[in-house]
Amino acid sequence: MRLVLFGPPGAGKGTQATRIAAAWGVPHVSTGAMLRDAVSGGTALGTRVKDVMDRGLLVSDDLIGEVVEQRLRQPDARRGFLLDGFPRTPRQVEILDRILSGLGATLDRVVLLEVPERVVLQRLAGRAAAGDGGTVRADDNEDTIRERMRVYRAQTEPVADIYRRRGILAEIDGTGTIDEVFAAVASELKGQRA
Ligand code: AMP
Repeated sequence: MRLVLFGPPGAGKGTQATRIAAAWGVPHVSTGAMLRDAVSGGTALGTRVKDVMDRGLLVSDDLIGEVVEQRLRQPDARRGFLLDGFPRTPRQVEILDRILSGLGATLDRVVLLEVPERVVLQRLAGRAAAGDGGTVRADDNEDTIRERMRVYRAQTEPVADIYRRRGILAEIDGTGTIDEVFAAVASELKGQRA
């Protein structure tokens, strides 16, 4: 199964992505996690992206495209993958199309986790104050959260329209419990095995 999961910051993408990837037996490819690893590992990539990430902005489409292409060329992604956090702009949709056509593959489904902005802000404020079950992120402070929401609306929401027109978008209500949301995603993906 080749799947994209996306939604506003704080929609619970990371949690759901981990569960979906385990249930379907495909690698969880999180661009945010890869970039955070690069920053904490002090790599050349990390040095390039740290400031942009701390400000809640997006790293360049071409740079993130290279990171994703290298990852999807790994043998474990041959039978499928779950992309979390990419594509995030219409240009990244084109880049992903090109990567997939180079691999002779197509996307099966794009899942949009929908959560109203009011709920997102509450969740992210909680994560910033208490840590998300231990996950404290450098970009979880109030100003950066607002900036990430603005960036999401301006640059990432149009991605949903592209996949809706292609007929592969599944819109899932992300406001329930973790189990409820997972059940809704799973029922949407039923029958699509890696
Ligand atoms: P995330 O964990 O998906 O919220 O990503 C954290 C940060 O990493 C984002 O705020 C961006 O700075 C950067 N990032 C992750 N994925 C992408 C992407 N597809 N395009 C550009 N920047 C990204």
